[in-house]
Amino acid sequence: MYLNFIEKKNDFLRAAGRTYDSGIQTGTGGNLSVRLDDHLMIVKPSGFSYGACSEENLTVTDFSGTLVQGNYQPTRESVLHGNLYKKFTEIGGIVHVHSPYAILASLHFDQVELVTMHSALKLKAPIPVIDVKTQAVEEQELYKVFDAFEKNPSLTAFILRGHGIVAVGKTAEKAGQTAELIEETAMIFWEDEKMKRLNNNQK
Ligand SMILES: [Zn+2]
Repeated sequence: MYLNFIEKKNDFLRAAGRTYDSGIQTGTGGNLSVRLDDHLMIVKPSGFSYGACSEENLTVTDFSGTLVQGNYQPTRESVLHGNLYKKFTEIGGIVHVHSPYAILASLHFDQVELVTMHSALKLKAPIPVIDVKTQAVEEQELYKVFDAFEKNPSLTAFILRGHGIVAVGKTAEKAGQTAELIEETAMIFWEDEKMKRLNNNQK
């Protein structure tokens, strides 16, 4: 159990560092988490950047976002993570980022198409855009997220419209890599659509 916790903590810190270094999340936004068991998770504390996540500010909450261990509060966004862990037992890590191209594409399209060979190979299905009323997906709107996964069991992510990517994986590191790939794909998808429209207008 103890070793298991160390592995999970290391996954959390590695994913936080990698996501920060990739530049897809600036400032203190976004949130990542790692499942510890059937009711606890490690989450990024509120007000800290991905780059500032460390052993000193390690934060453990239950799946409803209530603080269990640590000196800092988690964000309200943690509740979505907890609900995903509760519903889908195979999810081990979640990375949520406010990355610009995914947000931009979500303002104009209902899904990000897998326009690159690599994204089609790795992600399997277009990334759906989900509309919710609040920043921290409330209980009554969770069905929209669950529906997307139930419609497509190989789904590894979705985009909250105008807000950002939520990527899931067996580990947080895998979820982070998925978020990076989606941001890159969203950029190419967006530029490709722009170019197509430009070409059509010139005809
Ligand atoms: Zn967010």
